[in-house]
Amino acid sequence: MSNSDTKNYDLAIIGGGVVGLWCAYLAKQAGLRTVLFEANKIASGASGGLLGALMPHMPTQWYEKKQFQFEALIDLETMVAALEAETQIDCGYARVGRILPMSRPEHEIEAKQKCDAAAIQWASAPKHYEMSVISHPTHENWPHADMMPNGATIDDFSARINPRGVTDALHKSIAGFVDIFEHTSVELSKDKKLILPDGSAVAANDIIVTAGINSFELLEPFVPSLSGRPIKGQAAMLDTKLDPNLPVVHQNGVYLIVHNDGRTAVGSTSEREFEDGFTTDHLLENVIEQARQICPLVGDAPVVERWASLRMQPYGRDPLVGPVPDHDGIHICTGGFKITFGIAHRMAQAVLAPIAGNTPIDLPPSFQVANRVNHIFTPT
Ligand SMILES: Cc1cc2nc3c(=O)[nH]c(=O)nc-3n(C[C@H](O)[C@H](O)[C@H](O)COP(=O)(O)OP(=O)(O)OC[C@H]3O[C@@H](n4cnc5c(N)ncnc54)[C@H](O)[C@@H]3O)c2cc1C
Repeated sequence: MSNSDTKNYDLAIIGGGVVGLWCAYLAKQAGLRTVLFEANKIASGASGGLLGALMPHMPTQWYEKKQFQFEALIDLETMVAALEAETQIDCGYARVGRILPMSRPEHEIEAKQKCDAAAIQWASAPKHYEMSVISHPTHENWPHADMMPNGATIDDFSARINPRGVTDALHKSIAGFVDIFEHTSVELSKDKKLILPDGSAVAANDIIVTAGINSFELLEPFVPSLSGRPIKGQAAMLDTKLDPNLPVVHQNGVYLIVHNDGRTAVGSTSEREFEDGFTTDHLLENVIEQARQICPLVGDAPVVERWASLRMQPYGRDPLVGPVPDHDGIHICTGGFKITFGIAHRMAQAVLAPIAGNTPIDLPPSFQVANRVNHIFTPT
């Protein structure tokens, strides 16, 4: 874009990850003249991954944040179905459930509490979902019986999605309606303009910063007190041909997720310190080895892809969503960290509501920028 073709927009979105794409999708539906800038290629950051676990928070100790995610996980099923129908792209969504093996006897008491809490907290869902305790694997070697000496919990609410499927579908849906500029890293000037690499400026009534690990740097002129840290993660895809209805297995931080094509995604590592955020190393090999031990059903299936990226963990841990106080027109929508694929659409609905004049979405107090700026929620 050059000075000559600069134009004004209702909305500018900085960042083409899953959050920015849901923002753009909903902005299209709201009829906003929207532009999206992506520094590299669409969904080439943390959203370009393999895993796609949609894991509900534990139903015990319920509070606003868990309610937000709960409602998001319910809505996602219908929103993805609509997206698939529109684009004819398979998003790889399935509510396959989740098995959490119990390795110690004391887990049994906690498991009972979780099952009881699920019966209460999940009761408002349009369908009946439950968590229960099993003493043996529901499928042989998924997981290995030795992995659950004290049984396991199983639920039918957890789901999975293909990250690349959903971002491809969102991209296809917005193309032609939203002006998309890839390979265009923008900066935000103090007078609320987007500065492009060629020095030209773009203006928009509202700007949503959803730039993953760069979000806080971009917002520095407006809210220097907000910050976070990039956490590296690594995952892999195994070339299995397993039943795609197998439940997600999660043990000791290791996930196994069978996708629609029968391949199994395994992950993830979580590294605060690293030299290169985008290369895989022995830590991923350890996870793959553990995954083969947890679920021997994957056998010695070859690894077809290894992948690493950086996801933003804001200080205060929770996502940040909504207008930046005292800076009219500047909004933030970032920091879903490990659960973003399950809540990105609802984060987008919430940030867009005041921009598009839609019904406000209830945001947990800890997600609201003013509370975080004023340290009502202490960074952890
Ligand atoms: C190994 C691993 C496994 C994971 N597993 C899961 C999982 O199972 N379930 C789940 O829900 N989540 C998972 N996550 C987390 C999830 O992938 C991320 O939280 C999510 O993708 C973040 O999306 P985003 O849109 O906020 O950020 P990103 O996808 O990082 O998008 C931000 C975009 O902004 C662009 N950008 C940055 N600066 C600028 C600029 N100045 N101008 C223009 N564009 C800019 C970047 O290029 C990037 O594309 C995992 C992450 C990793 C690394």
